[in-house]
Amino acid sequence: MKKNLLEYDLTGLAAFCESLGEKRFRATQLFRWIHQQGVGDFGQMTDIAKSFREKLSQHACVIAPPVISHHRSADGTVKWLFDVGGGNAVEAVFIPEDGRGTLCISSQAGCAVGCRFCSTGHQGFSRNLTTGEIVAQLWFAEHSLRKAAGSDERVISNVVMMGMGEPLQNYSALVPALRTMLDDHAYGLSRRRVTVSTSGVVPFMDRLARDCPVALAVSLHAPNDKLRDYLVPLNVKYPLHELLGACIRYLEFAPRDFITFEYCMLAGVNDGPEHARQLVALIREAGAGRPWCKFNLIPFNPFPASGLQRSDPATIAAFAALLNDAGIVTTVRKTRGDDIDAACGQLAGEVQDRTRAPQRMARRRAIPIHPAQAPVASTKEPDLD
Ligand code: SF4
Repeated sequence: MKKNLLEYDLTGLAAFCESLGEKRFRATQLFRWIHQQGVGDFGQMTDIAKSFREKLSQHACVIAPPVISHHRSADGTVKWLFDVGGGNAVEAVFIPEDGRGTLCISSQAGCAVGCRFCSTGHQGFSRNLTTGEIVAQLWFAEHSLRKAAGSDERVISNVVMMGMGEPLQNYSALVPALRTMLDDHAYGLSRRRVTVSTSGVVPFMDRLARDCPVALAVSLHAPNDKLRDYLVPLNVKYPLHELLGACIRYLEFAPRDFITFEYCMLAGVNDGPEHARQLVALIREAGAGRPWCKFNLIPFNPFPASGLQRSDPATIAAFAALLNDAGIVTTVRKTRGDDIDAACGQLAGEVQDRTRAPQRMARRRAIPIHPAQAPVASTKEPDLD
């Protein structure tokens, strides 16, 4: 069976080249063709020796999961739905902003954590993505967007692991994927511009700090254990004092001097002034009074099975003001891509039944569906049946 080269970081690719009887340094050239040029057809890698290209054609391929659908929102947000087999699909979302382009990537098909406010959590867990399936989302999105723009300029400047899944519960696949994102011979993203978002898998926060310390975001969502046990069930295993301790330890290695806390605003559940005051006390105690984190308040995107509602704008503003007045930098996330269900917490809700997903989405949305524009030799045609 041919090996998909998207599965390898540069070290892994060097070992693969060696296994084909080639010098390890050939991997750098190959890595650049794949990730910098978006080329998956070995025949087009013109400065690689013909004998090596022939070996590659026999033993390797470069292939992303098939794209089921591709939607562009009115605000420029783009969402791809990838078929990862077995009836599972995962999403990647590109969010363009002034001066930067952020890609939100999935790490698992479904998620085992089961947060109450998250449509992925309600879907349950199917399986971990491989390194290649994680990297393929970036590879495909970057080169599709370049092709659509008719430019060789880099489009994606930031990656956030905030799509479907808990990335730290898929650690062995995650780390090589992060290394590929950071590698100067691939995407060359700085550690500050790659963010792993976790619900608080404490042992792997410590491992990430040592193995590949990128920016860290933590899904907090509650100021006390009782409420967090309910909203983020993983809290029962790793309660707040352990989670915040891991955050403080992570800061020693982090590329930024703060941790970002994500806080989903749920009407009547976690959005009162008493919750904000508890948060202030919690953060002050954990950081011994020094500033060490920022808050990002996320207006909840309701979905029927959750039984939860979005906090109203005045409540969110008052909550943010209370934190800001206490010296904790707090912002409110703009919702983007609402018309394609690409806003936070809306990923995945529609994707499990891939046989009907495109049709269902087409019915629900007024915007047209365009076939995905693939980079060279990138994917098979979508399988819609
Ligand atoms: S919020 Fe994240 S960790 Fe929680 S269920 Fe959703 S995907 Fe999983």
